[in-house]
Amino acid sequence: MIERTLVLLKPDTVKRTLIGEVIRRFESRGLKIVALEMIHPTREQMDAHYPKSKEWITGLGNNTVKSYKEFEIPTTLEEDYGTNDPYKIGLMVREWLINFMTSGPIVKMVIEGLHSIKMVRKIIGSTVPAFAEPGTLRGDFSVDSPDLANAKKRAVQNLIHASGNKEEAEQEIKLWFKKEELHSYKTIHDLHVL
Ligand code: GDP
Ligand code: MG
Repeated sequence: MIERTLVLLKPDTVKRTLIGEVIRRFESRGLKIVALEMIHPTREQMDAHYPKSKEWITGLGNNTVKSYKEFEIPTTLEEDYGTNDPYKIGLMVREWLINFMTSGPIVKMVIEGLHSIKMVRKIIGSTVPAFAEPGTLRGDFSVDSPDLANAKKRAVQNLIHASGNKEEAEQEIKLWFKKEELHSYKTIHDLHVL
């Protein structure tokens, strides 16, 4: 039940001076920060962070394909990307994402708590800021959409990355932190709830 998840506060969170607000939302929910550091990531680090599987990249490309239908974009994928292939489009979006993530410092952290992988994703809200529910971090503090981001050939700016599932969390924590950098302590919630 007690899980660990990896969170990256993207360059937009840092530049918009929202680091404290984001951390406050996690802590006030009873989640525990067990590792924390600001870094300016390299392209190699970001390339290692985002999956390279055909499945993941195709999924990323399919978001763009979907947003073309959803927002009734008048141009075609062929015109804008030179291809209709979601995998090839996904490769482009992945590049934009790496450009964005290396554009300034980010804050990396590991968050521990009861069902923390799902809880953190809920607190953050859905990927597309324009559709994120009010009350979530993305729903309260960000405004962007894939149609606008794609037209500008950049990643959707949505403040935060958080591991999507157990496998991602394990792999990402290992990538960003050494074992001895993960701390252990008791919070008030450990004493009174857990
Ligand atoms: P997340 O887990 O909610 O961050 O979303 P994904 O793992 O699906 O995508 C990773 C990141 O890629 C997102 O957080 C966005 O910054 C960016 N992104 C996702 N879909 C699109 C898209 O259709 N267009 C663009 N430009 N960026 C996207
Ligand atoms: Mg993801």
